[in-house]
Amino acid sequence: MPAAGIPARSAVPSTTDPLTPIWHPSPNFGPRRDGLKPSLIVLHYTAMSSAVEAVERLCDPEVEVSAHYLIGANGTLWQMVKEQERAWHAGAGEWHSKDDINSRSIGIELDNRGDHPFSARQMTVLETLLKEIMVRWSMQPSSVIGHSDMAPGRKSDPGPRFDWQRLERQGLASRRGHGEGPQDAPNDIFRALARDAGFSANVDDDTLLTAVRLRFRPWGKGPLEPADFTPLGHTAPWT
Ligand SMILES: [Zn+2]
Repeated sequence: MPAAGIPARSAVPSTTDPLTPIWHPSPNFGPRRDGLKPSLIVLHYTAMSSAVEAVERLCDPEVEVSAHYLIGANGTLWQMVKEQERAWHAGAGEWHSKDDINSRSIGIELDNRGDHPFSARQMTVLETLLKEIMVRWSMQPSSVIGHSDMAPGRKSDPGPRFDWQRLERQGLASRRGHGEGPQDAPNDIFRALARDAGFSANVDDDTLLTAVRLRFRPWGKGPLEPADFTPLGHTAPWT
């Protein structure tokens, strides 16, 4: 029982308590190449039916995939690879013209099948974890990206149900632009703006549009439209 005058600790973890992940080591990792340190955090969904199944898979030597962390839908946090090491979560792709994203990043898997909302508990643990990692590695909000941002056309996670704006409001992801878009929708300017924002992978126009919409406006449908330009920033040439 707490001494008089000392408030009892709540059973519900506060968002300011340091996280204590369950250590469940994966053999699927190696050293970061070229002395690289983590400068990105890549968010994923597992697309599996349970977190326990996902942990087993991410630690299976035959599958040769892993991530640093997995957050269950109920908020359980597992760590499988030390942050200093290179986990195998990102694969082929690039961001801001840099490849070997595995050597540059920390990977976080979110227990979600991809077609339903992310739970409040899971998001709260994710936000605390992001804050901790960003402090440890001196990262900016722009460090936090989705798998689909760096691997357009190949990956679509964390998917259309992920609430990027919730992270943006807390400084845990780059804030989207709010300026008005152009009157028409020129593809070459869209490509240039998307590249400036980080979407540098060499993909066709439709694939790029799909990736940018997944991040900023997954409700967007049909051909490129002025509203697709808005989130890509304030440096737009028509402003
Ligand atoms: Zn992924």
